[in-house]
Amino acid sequence: MAGVLDGQVALVTGGSRGIGRAIALELAKQGATLAVNYHANADAANSVVSEIEGMGGKAKAYQADVSDYDQSKAMVEQVMSDLGPVRILINNAGATADRTLARMTPEEWHKPIATNVDSLYNLTSSVWKAMGDAGGGHVVNLSSIVGQTGRVGLVNYGTSKAAAIGFTRAAAREGARTNIKVNAVAPGFIDTDMISGLNEEARKRLEGEALLGRLGKAEEIAAVVRFIVCEGTYMTGAVIDVNGGMFLG
Ligand code: NDP
Repeated sequence: MAGVLDGQVALVTGGSRGIGRAIALELAKQGATLAVNYHANADAANSVVSEIEGMGGKAKAYQADVSDYDQSKAMVEQVMSDLGPVRILINNAGATADRTLARMTPEEWHKPIATNVDSLYNLTSSVWKAMGDAGGGHVVNLSSIVGQTGRVGLVNYGTSKAAAIGFTRAAAREGARTNIKVNAVAPGFIDTDMISGLNEEARKRLEGEALLGRLGKAEEIAAVVRFIVCEGTYMTGAVIDVNGGMFLG
């Protein structure tokens, strides 16, 4: 598949479902070779790979728990040996464990911190040298409006998503010297499995909080990631809000 990302290897963590799936498909449309990471859902990851191959693209699925350093590093080494140096890393895999602070267990505190924050280090440090040696590239981190505004029951998740902004800004400073651009996207509420547990009333309330009056679609986040990776030649350390105007509501 010919495109602006021709021949570039893109690793999307949590590429099996939701926003990560949409990003994997979008980058494949631009000609990238996709490494589709997943944690437990092999069928979903394999169906993303089949969809990319069906479009004439190249992709392979990789199982790893991104909260685990050794698994993350081994996965990156396997991706590089199979496909070449990673030029585009999308730190998308994410987890929640909603609970108000007074009732939150240490396990519930650690789950989003490990999956959403430790993964940033585990993956980015593993691709960093080869990416720089290959001429640079893009790291895009998925933050969230919850990391910017906070939300009841999401102190753990909000902390993890605020950390993604700090990580983005600090890593951008280190990456510039080897042409590695590091940016973040901060979505509002997007219609994926992550929020499928909401009841109708809670969903309507969230829709009403966005100026645009609806939840976002995974493809609308993928389009912004595509812009950063394909057009963002003078962007680094940026945090792009994609929240339907929720920030202003
Ligand atoms: P989903 O719950 O739909 O999908 C989560 C993805 O992450 C799956 O592919 C899952 O893999 C993978 N994953 C979870 N834990 C791990 C792990 N330990 N190791 C590897 N992969 C893992 O999430 P979304 O698509 O909704 O969210 C994607 C990102 O966007 C997350 O970082 C989230 O915090 C962020 N975000 C989401 C918003 C929303 O409203 N949906 C809003 C703002 C930010 P598997 O299929 O194998 O389980």
